[in-house]
Amino acid sequence: MRRLAALFTAAALSGAALSLSPGTSAVAVGKGPDCCKGTINTSILHTYDSMVAELKKQDAKQSAMELEVIGQTVKGRDIHLVKYISNPKNPTVLYITQQHGNEQLTTEGMLDFIKSLGNSNKSILGRINILIVPMLNADGAMGDVNFSLDNYHASGGRHLTRYNANKVDLNRDHVAKAEVETQALHRMLAKYDAELGIDYAVDLHHQGTTAKADGELVSGSILYPTTSSVDAALVEKSKQLGAVVYNAIEPTGWGHLGKYVGGSANTIARNGLAAEYGIATLLFEMRGMSDHEYESYILGQKSNGYLIKQTVVTLNATAKAIADGSITKQDTSFWNTLTEQG
Ligand SMILES: [Zn+2]
Repeated sequence: MRRLAALFTAAALSGAALSLSPGTSAVAVGKGPDCCKGTINTSILHTYDSMVAELKKQDAKQSAMELEVIGQTVKGRDIHLVKYISNPKNPTVLYITQQHGNEQLTTEGMLDFIKSLGNSNKSILGRINILIVPMLNADGAMGDVNFSLDNYHASGGRHLTRYNANKVDLNRDHVAKAEVETQALHRMLAKYDAELGIDYAVDLHHQGTTAKADGELVSGSILYPTTSSVDAALVEKSKQLGAVVYNAIEPTGWGHLGKYVGGSANTIARNGLAAEYGIATLLFEMRGMSDHEYESYILGQKSNGYLIKQTVVTLNATAKAIADGSITKQDTSFWNTLTEQG
């Protein structure tokens, strides 16, 4: 498992996963050769257990890192919070992956980011507090749910679902907080927002495979809070978070971002966390899911490399900009011309 993950990372870094086959048109930015065929083999992904094993290994290795269990899923899996708390006076960022269990490459990238905080990225840790909730919906990620998976398409002996075990969409539960996973997240939010003041949050997701902006398939789409419950200053701060991501992804050659088209309800984290805690938020919807009932939503695994890399670039860039304060100087005017995905 570890070796395969390393291979994907290596492929992404070398650009090998990004080569376009002859005859592939120039619009194939981020397309990857296996688009939309549902050919992903889920055995290459971390399982919940192998993810936890990696978190514990990093916790043992990294003196700055702490691991906390913030609750349990419906099926009793521990939900982990990875903490790097240097000073309550430092700015604090929260990263969340896999509210939707079938959107896993963000977690694969998150594990690479956590490892980097133990070595190459160590220098930022004195100037920032980082909170990470990876794989919030672990039951869905493992297909350990109380509903049928007969129509799911991925191979590899494991299915991954958007919903939690009770067939609830956790990213529509941030007001009602009916599910134990959402309750665990919000207990953590209340506690650490009081202790540290959580300034920023990036909520990492995957969407379908066919969204385009400016005539090109997007590698992902981003959006700030659009609820009427937050003031203009918080929206601007959220747009600055988006600017850091845009400026990091667009020049890569493989990245092409659109503006996500999303709703204004506080039931989703992008709006709800901003409204309830005053956190500047960014939703990042990356291309292609790991499994789904709709085959066209699934991206073949040859695209894994750049999508994992897109997560790592996003995390590195935002953490650095928050740590060094450059985030507060971001020009947000690009949002005025960023094309909405279609
Ligand atoms: Zn999602």
